[in-house]
Formats: sequence, structure tokens, C-alpha cells
Amino acid sequence: MSSQPKGPSVLLRRLREVMAEPHDPQKRLDIIVADIAGNMVAEVCSVYVLRADGMLELYASHGLNPEAVHVSSLRMGQGLVGTIAVSARALNLNEAQKHPAFEYLPETGEEIFNAFLGVPILRAGRVLGVLVVQNKSNRVYMDAEVEALETTAMVLGELIATGELEKLSPKGVALDLSRPLTMEGIALSDGIGLGYVVLHEPRVIVTNLFNDQVEDEISRLREALIKVQVSIDVLFQSGNVPIEGEHRDVLETYRMFAHDRGWNRRMEEAIANGLTAEAAVEKVQNDNRARMMRRPDPYLRERLHDFDDLANRLLRELVGKEHGASAAIVGGDHVIVARNMGATELLDYNSKKLRGLVLEEAAPNSHVVIVARALGIPVVGQLADFVSNAEQGNPVIVDGEAGSVMLRPPLDMENAYAEKVKFRAGRQKQYEKLRNKPAKSKDGVDISLLMNAGLVMDLKQLETSGASGVGLFRTELQFMVSATLPRLGEQEELYRHVLDEAGDKPMTFRTLDIGGDKVLPYLKTLNEENPAMGWRAIRLSLDRPALLRSQVRALLKAAAGRNLRLMVPLVTEVWEINQVRELIKREVELQTRFGHEMPRSLELGAMLEVPSLLWQLDELMQAVDFISVGSNDLHQFMMASGRGNVNLANRFSPLSKSFLRMLKKIIDKSEEHKTPVTLCGEIAGRPISAMALFALGYKSVSMSPIAVGPVKAMLMALDIGELQKKLLPALEDTLEQTTVMEVLTDFADKHGIPY
Ligand code: PEP
Ligand code: MG
Repeated sequence: MSSQPKGPSVLLRRLREVMAEPHDPQKRLDIIVADIAGNMVAEVCSVYVLRADGMLELYASHGLNPEAVHVSSLRMGQGLVGTIAVSARALNLNEAQKHPAFEYLPETGEEIFNAFLGVPILRAGRVLGVLVVQNKSNRVYMDAEVEALETTAMVLGELIATGELEKLSPKGVALDLSRPLTMEGIALSDGIGLGYVVLHEPRVIVTNLFNDQVEDEISRLREALIKVQVSIDVLFQSGNVPIEGEHRDVLETYRMFAHDRGWNRRMEEAIANGLTAEAAVEKVQNDNRARMMRRPDPYLRERLHDFDDLANRLLRELVGKEHGASAAIVGGDHVIVARNMGATELLDYNSKKLRGLVLEEAAPNSHVVIVARALGIPVVGQLADFVSNAEQGNPVIVDGEAGSVMLRPPLDMENAYAEKVKFRAGRQKQYEKLRNKPAKSKDGVDISLLMNAGLVMDLKQLETSGASGVGLFRTELQFMVSATLPRLGEQEELYRHVLDEAGDKPMTFRTLDIGGDKVLPYLKTLNEENPAMGWRAIRLSLDRPALLRSQVRALLKAAAGRNLRLMVPLVTEVWEINQVRELIKREVELQTRFGHEMPRSLELGAMLEVPSLLWQLDELMQAVDFISVGSNDLHQFMMASGRGNVNLANRFSPLSKSFLRMLKKIIDKSEEHKTPVTLCGEIAGRPISAMALFALGYKSVSMSPIAVGPVKAMLMALDIGELQKKLLPALEDTLEQTTVMEVLTDFADKHGIPY
């Protein structure tokens, strides 16, 4: 008997016919295994499919006892089949019984077979089952046969993914592909969202598996590969790639993979075996993923992401780019799933349909998270490998309270969550009742609870949240959602609209805070090695005065006859604010000369975000009308710990004694100078940290609108004077082991304060 297969391309052609013929699912599977056995000259061909309960069930067999089909099953890791599933690697044995993992299943009658070749059935790197061929003789399967069986396994992967096999098991257990999956991450934005997965960077789903012309497909692959290689080389030559740093590392890795001979050869082999160029890319990527995902080394796993990105680029090159982010999902209730994303990218989605955001990376103060919070969308982050487990359109629940995500939830869980949503709505109603109550502590201290905003649509929440005004209007958000730089007239109209919406409530605009991670697609910025500490915010504005001047002009005209409060981000030295004041003064003179009505009053403030200002507080307070503490940036610079850095997200608490002592110094100075201070970082929106701020003496805070209700409820139950007696000594006591968090939670628990 010849051990030479007839050629996988013949088999693939045959399988294509079988897939297209109208068969019931079991019949189709039976024909497929018989055809594979015939083609590979094997006496046995069997398919094991992974069920949601972790068992690999024999779904079809040619050559084993038919009675064993849907009866025999193995656990993951059990026997040869279980070993293949766990390791996601092929096993090629000429004496199967001698392998230590061999386990004899008497009902199958397989004891007479010696040669064994099994390969995992993979899809996007996930194991969905195992495909096996066996022979009585002690033959050794050649590499080409292993490759052929792996290629064939792809067809079975697609068949499983169609859901067609879902109801075949008499036990009624669902398949692993549709298994519910709960993952724990960290809660980044409060709320609960139910919806369907929208992959931010959708995997290109390859549906065209079989090729007609090997040569044509090889040329398609080579052309696409050259285009990708060229695009990477062009990036390098553009001079935009820094000499060193993470960005360069990623691109270097891309370049290395793109030129990797082994990778190219394996893809061409897969084409020679009968796959289309795109299916070949997918097959080889499946193998890579399976191999690399088992490595515990985080560096290698990170490289896997790079490799995935590259394979995706290649796939897009081959099958076109029409896989737009939300194209695949029609209807509402979108939950965006991404490894990470920029704030601008989130704003590209229709916010009316957004129900949640799941990010594998991202930290509490990442801008994308802040924007999501402003939009009132629950966010859960730091969930490794979530993206590869999620399929476009899968039902999903995002629990931004507990920090967990449920993928493909069972019905009872969905019902439980629907209840939870109702409960939260009830609590929200309670907060709404507080809306018109004065923001006063239990011991009678008035506090100004303001909200942060950035888009006109946010201003509706001025009414619903109960905020007494806007403490921070991030003007850059409007710039980030525009395709082109907003013109003067457009800006003026926008600011007028914002002021109209605010009515007599105070409104504080912040001048453009771009640069760093806030990039405007139409404005060329530098590719900096350390963008957070780079040419951003006021630094960029002073160097590009035309941009700042046109914004100031738009604001002055929009605020004609009204109050204008304006603040400047990332001030580092007092002279910067003086220069802005000069620029404003000149603009006022010019506009007055042209006969334009000017604001009735104008107040200029500085954001305190850079620690250098802490040693210029006297000068600063004399130079400005008010100060706004941007605790997000101030914390990252004081702790030398990037606000978006996942590995440092929980290391340095904003409730640390050092940080709170510093905040106290600011408030003490402001009392001395009678300079009003507001704090507008994310810590103002968490009831427990807001408690600390009130005890330090802060009387004005600005937060995301959704936080106003909970903070007000806390405030109304809080005796600030009593808390001060506990907190202030604790802050000074360096020997005391109790953390500030413990002091606060103890106090809140004792006094029934909701936090
Ligand atoms: C801050 O840094 O605290 C702040 C409010 O500004 P942003 O988060 O927009 O940088
Ligand atoms: Mg800031």
C-alpha cells in the first residue's frame, strides 16, 4: 500500500464540493472523514469536537466502531487526543500504544492501529477539536502529510464555526466555541452594559478557502507581501520613526516578520496544498498563535500581537478593507472590544449605540477611559486575551462595577443582569431626587459640585446630573472628532451653543490640550519619545500662536456680553500664563477696535498639573484669577508613573499620604491668597477620594456627570469637621501604618456614609 497521499489539493477540492452539497450535518461530517481517510490512505479518520464542558467528543469516524460515535469522549489533556488539544500541536507516532499518554478506549476498537497522526482543529489560535488518522502498519507519516492534515483541519474549523454541528451531540452540551466565558479585569468606568461584540480591529474572516490555481495564489500572496513590506519600509524612511523606543521596536518586529523566509515558505506551502492566499495566511497564523500563546514570556506574547497585526494587514491587503469597525453589526447595542485604543477612535463610533467598552489594556486615567466615562459608558480593562476569545456579534455583558465581562452569557445570567440594571436605575432615580437639593455637607459646608464635559451633547447632563456648572470643558474633544481643523466661525458657533446650554451656570473652558496621546489626525505633531512630557498643551499653543489666537478669538466673540472663564493646561512656569494673558489682551483690543462686543468679565486660570508649580504658588496665585488642579497629570508627574501604564495602574494611590499632603499645601496657599481652587481630575468623581478632598478643605470639584449623584449622596451624609479630626493627624503621622483608605472606609462605615 502506498503511503503517499493523492495530494491535499485534490482532497480540498473534494471537500469544497461536500461543503456545498445539501447534506444533514452528521452526513456531511461522515462523508468528510471517509474522504480524508481515502485520500490519506488511512484506515481510520476521526473528528473529535471540543464541547463547552471541556470534553472532546468523538463526532464522526471512518474506521472506528460506529457505535462509539457521540459516545466516546476524552477530557482535555487525556489520552493522545486530549494531549493534542492542550498543546495545540500535532502528534505523529508510529507506535501509538507506546506513548505515555496513550489511553485505550475499548468501545472504539482502536487497539489494532499502530500509526497515529493527530492535529488540532484551530480557529484564530483557539482549539476547537482534533482530527486524527490511523493505520494498522507501523508507518511514519511524512511532513507533507502532517501539513496536509493540518490544512484539512482548517475546513473542519470553519464547519464548526458555522454552528452546524452545535445540535449533533445527543447529550445536548454546547460546543466550546459558544461556551460562556467570564473574565475578571479591573473596573474603569461604572455602569452595566448589555450588547453585542464589535471588534475594533475586526479579524478578517476568510471564507474563501480553496484555490483553483496554485500559481495565481502564490503571485497574489507575493504581491500582497511586497506591498506590506514596502509600506513598513516607507514608514521607516519617512523619518517619523524615533531612533529608539517602543514604537520603533514594534516596527522593527513587523519588518523582521515581513521579511521572514520561514513565514513566507510556510504560507506558500499551504497554498501548494490547495488553500487560497488568504486562507494560507490564516492557517500559518493559527499555528503561530497556538505556539506562542503557550509561552508564559510576556515579551513573546507581546510579539504575538505584532505578528497578529501584521497577518491582519496582509489579510486586508488580500481581501480588501471593507471590514469597517461596525459594518458587521447592524442594529444597536454595541460593545466595543479592543486591545487598546485612542480617545479619538472611540469618538468615531455612534455614541447612541455604545453600551460598553472592553479593553485588554488601558489604565484608569487613559484618555479613552476618561472619554468613555464622560459618555457614561461602562468600561472594563486589563483582560488578557479577551479579543481572541470574542467573535464579532457575540452577546456580552460589561460589568463596570465589579470589573468583569461575561461573553456569550447563559440566559439566567442575562436575566440576573437585567435585574441589576433595573436596580441601578432605581438608585439613579434616588440620585435624581437629590438633583435640586443643595450640595451641602451634614455639618453645613457648601461645596460646588461641577461636571467635566467636552462635547455639546454632554451639556444635557448639566440638567440631569445635578451639577452646578462645568468645571472643565475639554475643548480639544471637538477638535478630535472633526475630520479637519475647525474654522474660526465653527468654533465660535460651538462655544456660543455651549454657553447657551449652560445658561447662568458657570462654565470653564480649557484651551486646547493636544499633543501627548491626544492626536489630531490633520495636525502634524512630532513623534516624540516621551509624548506626555513633550510638546503638548500650552507649550504647543505658545509655539503655534495662530491656533491659540483663533481659539481665543472664537471664545471672546461667543461670550460677548457674558462671563468668560478660561484656563490653560500644563502650565509649568508662571511666564507661560503671563504670555497667554498678553495674547488675550491684544486680541481684546483688536476685536474692540473692530467694534465687536466683548465678554462682560474675563477670568484666566491655570491648571496645576506639573509639580514645578508647587514651588511657585505665591507668584502663580498672584498671576491668575483661579486655579484648577488637574490631578490626573499631577499624579502621573509627581509619581513618575504614566497615567496609561497598565503595569503601574494600581501601584501608587492618589490617596497616598504624599499626594494628599501636596494637595493640602495647594489649598492652604489658596486660602492665604484668596485664590479660588477647583480640582478636576478623576479622583473628584470617586466618593471615597472626594471625601478626602473635602476633609483637606477643597470646596469645589469637577467630575464626570455620572459621578455627581453618588458624590452628592456621600457629601450630604458627611460631617467634614469630624472627618478632618481623623484624617489630618493621620496624614502627618509617618509612623502610623494605617492607610488613608482605611481611615476613610472606617469613618464611612461607622457613620453610614455611602461610598
Ligand atoms: C488632569 O490632568 O487631571 C485633567 C483634568 O486633564 P486631562 O485628564 O484632560 O489631562
Ligand atoms: Mg491634564
